[in-house]
Amino acid sequence: MKYLSSLGWNDFFDNSFKNFDSNTYKCGRISAENKTNYSVLTGSGEIIGEVSGRYLFETERQSDLPKVGDWVVITLFNNNELAVIHQTLPRRTKISRKSADRKTDEQIIAANVDIAFIVQSLDDNFNINRLERYLSVVYQGGVKPVVILNKTDLCNDVEEKVKLVKERTGIENPVSVSALNRDGLDAITSMIEPGSTIVFLGSSGVGKSTLINALLGYDRFATNEVREQDSRGKHTTTRREMVLLPSGGILIDTPGMRELGLWNADNGLAQTFSEFDDYSESCKYSDCTHTHEIGCAVLSALEKGFIPKERYENYLKLRKELKYLESKQNISAQIEEKRKWKIIHKELKNFNKKNKQ
Ligand code: GDP
Ligand code: ZN
Repeated sequence: MKYLSSLGWNDFFDNSFKNFDSNTYKCGRISAENKTNYSVLTGSGEIIGEVSGRYLFETERQSDLPKVGDWVVITLFNNNELAVIHQTLPRRTKISRKSADRKTDEQIIAANVDIAFIVQSLDDNFNINRLERYLSVVYQGGVKPVVILNKTDLCNDVEEKVKLVKERTGIENPVSVSALNRDGLDAITSMIEPGSTIVFLGSSGVGKSTLINALLGYDRFATNEVREQDSRGKHTTTRREMVLLPSGGILIDTPGMRELGLWNADNGLAQTFSEFDDYSESCKYSDCTHTHEIGCAVLSALEKGFIPKERYENYLKLRKELKYLESKQNISAQIEEKRKWKIIHKELKNFNKKNKQ
């Protein structure tokens, strides 16, 4: 399905789709999650898609439903204007966070992403602790991070901030730009290859939309509204999250992100703080927590100034957040297990009763 490569299709997805009869089934890519359905990009344009009853019935977790960036297996109806979604192909990468409500659920922000542009603005928003949090999430998802520092026009110590980012995070080439003045955008454009998928992450107000508009060369806002026919036949307007660059890249915006809670990001944390792993090989105890132990190589590196104090403290904070999440997940799993056994016991009792009669 070469014609889909401009939407990001590659051998990985081709391989998953092999078992489907391509006369009956087609593939499309989720470009937006609407209130009651999905926008799906296909080889012949963007159409509305609905998840099949069976798919819905067999789905246990929210995260198993289609998300922006997912490749889905569809059948076409209404002159190819409506898609029924039967399955989501396995994700190559994903950006996940802890669901913003109190539940211990995974929320997938974007699927099948190649590069994450982590955007901060060089005003009050600039915050390296937050950057380390975003890096943990991005690494965990198997995605390559690029740090973008926006609003250089508002900042008179840009070089200083770039240096800080390099020193604290080890990120080699943070990109500084002014999206408003279209200054420094070439560095970004050169990273976007045809068929590659880029997600924009960052707090609201850092300039993600402005940046996307600048890269597109037109104001996306005007084209950003897709008409959607909901089940009652009324039109509702929704926001489109995926846009295609004329030069061939696929951009995903993430509207309205307030917080980015870590979701099972042990590996991502280890990758973000990779020198901690290196040091810990020399810790005296193999289960060293790097907090109080005698002979802890991490603490010794901290003392000598090889690890910045703020970085060490942020590491502990993020690690604690993950531990807490893990303990909550264990409790949820236990409750679920109990609930299942209760049902089994009840059914067994009824079965025995019936057999006695
Ligand atoms: P988003 O929430 O991350 O999508 O942020 P927006 O793109 O909506 O931008 C938020 C505000 O920041 C808007 O008022 C933009 O005009 C402004 N803005 C974006 N980029 C720049 C920039 O490079 N310099 C300045 N001074 N303002 C910017
Ligand atoms: Zn240690």
